Amino acid sequence: MKLGAIEAGGTKFVLGVGTDQGDILEKEIIPTEHPDITVPKIIAFFEGKGIDRLGVGGFGPIDINKQSDTYGQLQKTPKLDWVDYPLGATLKEALQVPIEIDSDVNVAAMSEAKWGNATDVDTCLYITVGTGIGAGAYFNGQTLKGLSHPEMGHIRVIRHPDDNFEGACPYHKDCLEGLAAGPALEQRWGKKGQELADDEKVWEMEAYYLAQALTNYIYILSPERIIMGGGVMKQAQLFPLIRKNVLEMLNGYVSSPYLTEKEIDRYIVAPGLTDEAGVKGALYLAMDR
Ligand code: ADP
Ligand code: ZN
Repeated sequence: MKLGAIEAGGTKFVLGVGTDQGDILEKEIIPTEHPDITVPKIIAFFEGKGIDRLGVGGFGPIDINKQSDTYGQLQKTPKLDWVDYPLGATLKEALQVPIEIDSDVNVAAMSEAKWGNATDVDTCLYITVGTGIGAGAYFNGQTLKGLSHPEMGHIRVIRHPDDNFEGACPYHKDCLEGLAAGPALEQRWGKKGQELADDEKVWEMEAYYLAQALTNYIYILSPERIIMGGGVMKQAQLFPLIRKNVLEMLNGYVSSPYLTEKEIDRYIVAPGLTDEAGVKGALYLAMDR
């Protein structure tokens, strides 16, 4: 059986054809442009390849409710050309195959659980800190869905006492994403994250915000591993700062061997998969389980 897989990202789409064993046979990367340009390229890639099913991990918000008339439709995405674009319906109509759709971060969590840094546990969270902040959750073979996919990047956090930045989220100003995603770093400090590497107070504040979020996710979801990726997490000095803050904020309340100074390095970790995480996760989504 041949399966199609798409990682739909804000900057690029990764298209793949693979097997139901999880092997990618063929791959192509195309830039995310206007849907009128990008979508015909997607259809052309898959046409004639004989795929039986298609899995899509999409940037969001995206409708992932299978019962909905607008399944696979983009919603209030900051990529304005894509607002309300019916990605799922368009691909289904053109390729005539069943489609499975989930959020990009849910798919990444699933991929890490299958092949990456969470293969030894039954539950994990995957958080990306990049242009936005989003998190997906994998629990015992499934990703977490409800009304839609979770939007863990938009929770409220307590302000750092030294932070006067108003916040960059177009919907909530100073939610977590508004205070801690890449654009917030750039607007608050006047330089991109990659140019702020040596400034300790930048990363101390960043860790303070991200650790609050992780602490809340631990209280609510109790994941057995937390994987942190995205451009901003390339600042590896963030990891020890976040771990230290999480332990302080939890203050010993949740009893787990993972939540100790000795083990927390194995609890809050970088991704195990790099470039293929999204497309492999989408392939897994396409498998008939
Ligand atoms: P996307 O979110 O579009 O998928 P990324 O995860 O690469 O892409 O996130 C891009 C954001 O991350 C930008 O705001 C950028 O400034 C920031 N960023 C990228 N690389 C680094 C780095 N090495 N250190 C700090 N910030 C970075
Ligand atoms: Zn927000």
